[in-house]
Amino acid sequence: MKVNENFTGLSENYLFADIAKKVKAFKMQAPDADVISLGIGDVTQPLAPAVIEALHKAADEMATATTFRGYGPERGYDFLREAIVTHDFRAHGIDIEADEVFVSDGAKSDIGNFQELLSPECVVAVTDPVYPVYVDSNVMAGRRIVALPCTAENGFVPELPSEHVDVIYLCYPNNPTGTTLNKEQLKVWVDYAISEEALILYDAAYEAYIQSKDVPHSIYEIPGAKQCAVEFHSYSKTAGFTGIRCGYTVVPKALLPAPPVGRRAASQLLSKDEDVLPPTGGAREGLLNALWNRRQSTKFNGTSYLSQRAAEAIYTPEGKAQTKATIAYYMGNARLMREALTVMGFKVYGGVDSPYLWVSTPKGMTSWEFFDWMLHSAHVVCTPGAGFGGQGEGFVRLTAFGTHENTEKALERIRQTLPREGVVTIQERTI
Ligand code: PLP
Repeated sequence: MKVNENFTGLSENYLFADIAKKVKAFKMQAPDADVISLGIGDVTQPLAPAVIEALHKAADEMATATTFRGYGPERGYDFLREAIVTHDFRAHGIDIEADEVFVSDGAKSDIGNFQELLSPECVVAVTDPVYPVYVDSNVMAGRRIVALPCTAENGFVPELPSEHVDVIYLCYPNNPTGTTLNKEQLKVWVDYAISEEALILYDAAYEAYIQSKDVPHSIYEIPGAKQCAVEFHSYSKTAGFTGIRCGYTVVPKALLPAPPVGRRAASQLLSKDEDVLPPTGGAREGLLNALWNRRQSTKFNGTSYLSQRAAEAIYTPEGKAQTKATIAYYMGNARLMREALTVMGFKVYGGVDSPYLWVSTPKGMTSWEFFDWMLHSAHVVCTPGAGFGGQGEGFVRLTAFGTHENTEKALERIRQTLPREGVVTIQERTI
């Protein structure tokens, strides 16, 4: 057999494995050190009581033959898809149908898998720095990738590519920079995608953290987006589902790939005669929706009934209030971190509509050097920006997912250790 040689194009190590290795080595060297992670991408607060109640109830249903559930509907149970459409879209004036929603076991698998619907020839644009899944899943498939630099100079707003691209991954609020696009800035991308017949794969995993009024919660708030965008949602950071696993993907029926592939695939998938397909609209409607349904029904056997009942509970009045309180807890950490680090002289981005802060490293330090300093001197773990792409050099990512106590403790340690060790922060450098 021959292996898929595209895998040789992947970067050698996985960022978080490297970090874990360094932390483990430090703990062996200093077993008494109380290491605090501000790099953690996982949540720390427990599930909402409404979710726990729904999980218990669903588990009890599994104990009786009359209420037992086996394989579920492949797109997800109606009760959850209806709740999603009602609360996440129609309540905000967005017209999404339940059959455009596919329940998933979290956003990562759908984001990684959706590229299977695309031709290997598609050119893919990603922001730099970037959530690595967009890049790696396309490297595995052998696609060419174009990087869109997001820097402090351009306010972390990517510029339109200088060459035609077929697919664009956008993630807002962004991981890792914690920055957002307002409606006007996102409209530029929707207009570009429509004019270039490109597809936007929009990752809205952190939309629940948005506080500012002009930041869109969904790309479908932008007119025309249903023609050009797929949107991925996750309950992981919205409601602490990193262990429970549930999310969903919206594939609008208005989405169409460009002909001629679109025409052939449409005729096979929608049982239509290719000759009778009009060049646009009409019978071709629903092609990507149908392709994704076909892909999922072949390779995915659904999200567990328990997870879907748990997700449904987030939309009850109690569930909404409880999850909102947890998000406010994390955003309290974000505010504390922003304020404290700014006072210490760091240049801090993000953390306003997002649980992530993107922090410039001190004078003359690379992101890995600053990581090492933080670990060895302050016993605090951060994530080196260079692990998210070339433009991440000179930054580290901090997250607000810790406990209040640990966040406060870590900030105090950084505050005390910096001057003692003579580390000069970015603002001092510019003065
Ligand atoms: N998208 C982004 C930008 C993320 O940061 C993450 C997780 O950290 C995911 C998707 C994956 O979320 P899930 O837990 O739903 O797979």
